[in-house]
Amino acid sequence: MENKIKSLIKKLRRFGFSVKPKNKGLLDPVCGMEAANDIAFNYRGQTYFFCSDHCRGQFEKAPDRYSGQ
Ligand SMILES: [Zn+2]
Repeated sequence: MENKIKSLIKKLRRFGFSVKPKNKGLLDPVCGMEAANDIAFNYRGQTYFFCSDHCRGQFEKAPDRYSGQ
């Protein structure tokens, strides 16, 4: 059973799938979900992280609404 899972993970990796590393405890300011650590946006010297490009786009449109600054 365990070997099956391992080989499945290997297959997925070969096809370019990977589990996105998450920013532990870092929350997307737009939707409040856990943010991914590769979707970032700098605003007024601070870096904000988002769960998706969609949320980053929302932030870019109205950063003051979400940044709390
Ligand atoms: Zn989000």
